[in-house]
Amino acid sequence: MKKIQIAIDGPASAGKSTVAKIIARKLGYVYCDTGAMYRATTYAAQQAGIALDDDAALKAMLPTMKLEFVPDEPEQRVIVNGTDVTRTIRLPEITNNVSVVAAQPSVRADLTKRQQDIAAAGGIVMDGRDIGTTVLPNAPVKIFLEASVHERALRRFKENQEKGIDTPLEVLEQEIAARDKKDSTRKISPLTKAPDAITVDTTSMGIEQVVTRILEIVQEATA
Ligand code: C5P
Repeated sequence: MKKIQIAIDGPASAGKSTVAKIIARKLGYVYCDTGAMYRATTYAAQQAGIALDDDAALKAMLPTMKLEFVPDEPEQRVIVNGTDVTRTIRLPEITNNVSVVAAQPSVRADLTKRQQDIAAAGGIVMDGRDIGTTVLPNAPVKIFLEASVHERALRRFKENQEKGIDTPLEVLEQEIAARDKKDSTRKISPLTKAPDAITVDTTSMGIEQVVTRILEIVQEATA
């Protein structure tokens, strides 16, 4: 079967990365988490003492930022300038600031280029907000994953409980809604469904069901 590009977009906590990882493993494809790249850039800017909305300073920093994904189990490691930030980039101080960095033109231009280079060989599952619209507009499979804000907050709440994090459900709902709003209303490459993307509403679906549905779509595209 020929190896293709699969773009998976959608709002925060819709289950994109969980599903994308499983699909990549089943197909023997590379998985690229573009959200981790925006998070890692936010970390690098914070470390450098750069204001997160200072596009000129970010533009100057980006050529010096070395960003690597290293395969590992149960998840690939994210390395920025030699530091393993896999866990750090999931902390609230990154999560609640990343949308500001992701709205800066220089950041989008730089990371889009890196993502296109990673995807160039094909055989890739890439998840994010603008993969089907901007990064890989010719991807033969584009999925837009959705779920209600309540359901997404509930999933995040359960994940947090397992990690011993006690953020109330209502706070998670507010954070998710705020991040969606920032990501959908920014000027460059906002979160939006590509006209040729297929929407999969996962509100009342389990992970396996979502994976099966996407694999069917991939099968049709590669037949
Ligand atoms: O997917 P994740 O929640 O880790 O993404 C973190 C943030 O990175 C998003 O809220 C968004 O601001 C930004 N992002 C983006 N474009 C992408 C992927 C993520 O703007 N392709």
